[in-house]
Amino acid sequence: MPFKALHLSEPVLRGIQAAGYTDPTPIQLRAIPVVLGGGDLIGSAQTGTGKTAAFALPILTRLGQHAAKPRVLVLEPTRELAAQVETAFRDFARFTDLRTVAVFGGVGYGSQRSELRKGVDIICATPGRLMDYVQDGSINLRDIQILVLDEVDRMLDMGFLPVVKDIIARCPRERQTLFFSATVPPEIAAVASFALRNPSKVEIGVNRSVNNSINHALYPVALGQKFDLLLALLEKTDFDSVLVFSRTKHGADKIARKLKAANHSVAVLHANRSQNQRIEALAGFKSGKYEVMVATDIAARGIDVAGVTHVINYDVPENPEDYVHRIGRTGRAQAVGDAFTLVTPENADDIRDIQRFIGQKIPELRLEGFDYLPFGVAQPKPVRGQRGGGGGGQRGGNRGGGGGGGQRGGFRGGHGGNPNRDSNGGKVGFQFRGRR
Ligand code: AMP
Repeated sequence: MPFKALHLSEPVLRGIQAAGYTDPTPIQLRAIPVVLGGGDLIGSAQTGTGKTAAFALPILTRLGQHAAKPRVLVLEPTRELAAQVETAFRDFARFTDLRTVAVFGGVGYGSQRSELRKGVDIICATPGRLMDYVQDGSINLRDIQILVLDEVDRMLDMGFLPVVKDIIARCPRERQTLFFSATVPPEIAAVASFALRNPSKVEIGVNRSVNNSINHALYPVALGQKFDLLLALLEKTDFDSVLVFSRTKHGADKIARKLKAANHSVAVLHANRSQNQRIEALAGFKSGKYEVMVATDIAARGIDVAGVTHVINYDVPENPEDYVHRIGRTGRAQAVGDAFTLVTPENADDIRDIQRFIGQKIPELRLEGFDYLPFGVAQPKPVRGQRGGGGGGQRGGNRGGGGGGGQRGGFRGGHGGNPNRDSNGGKVGFQFRGRR
């Protein structure tokens, strides 16, 4: 079914065309009629499925023309998402006179305030900065007709639920509410029942599933060789842009420092960086100035960077759901992407949980030409403090072989297909046996 058949307005259809979309994605097909009909919606869909347009396009159609009072409020858990979603709204609205503003912390109040003063129809905001404006009277929520609560599970993780509830309570009772959350634990179910009235449910795919355009694989390695293996993977992989995930902010900084020392152009994205640094990192990564971006989960959640060819989990995510989110950064909108996870024997439980969560076994690969140290049963326990710290510590005397080198094309050729079919040199004898 083409977008035309979905009863979107003419200017919005032109915006879609300008964005280069031809056919609606499954979540768009299912959500657009519900939103156009004015109903509440509770949606869950994998990232990269077109969720933003699924709510933005019908919202813009419903708004019609500029009215100089905020009628739509979109709440996002992170600054980057607020900015990204506002950009999407603005792009789709380019043939309308509707006005949008992104409202988030970490930057001055001046330009946001002056946008607000000009009169906007749509506000995309993080909860804290929005409340600043609500409290000083710069934003009034009494005319909100449509409230979008996006990535609610992440709002919960970030401790935003109390302020989100406060914001909901300040919006008119007569409104349309669209609620998106990958998971619905009891705290979130409570917010949903407080915020929504007879919602239609739209679930696309299973949140637990890994987009099948992504080839993903585990690379078992000794703790002390993690960074060397990362370097060797970068060396041998024919990538355009790589997102490297660290569990901790400190770890992300350390990995970035070491990658820079190895002559990679690197951006860093985590919550301790200033807003300007975050904007510069993301813009530089998107433009190709940086080939690698090292990020933590919170900063990277939902971030849409077209053309990420590889995701490398330097640290196994703590939360199985984050595995799906992280590797969903590649292979977005039907492109094919590769996702590698470095795993040490200490990660056995986490890997077992992830495999159980996604309902599949992740193939294990071994990087040919990399000088693996023995690990597994014989590996001495790591000294506390070495985890997540960017590797390094136990480097031992085998460093010389770590870089591999020379086989870039060969590796890529061998790996580029489905890792299920190609173990590329056999497995390292490390089995993920659960200990619990
Ligand atoms: P989202 O899940 O909203 O973050 O979207 C993921 C990516 O898919 C973004 O780069 C969108 O621009 C793109 N996208 C969304 N809808 C479509 C569509 N119907 N056709 C092609 N690309 C799309």
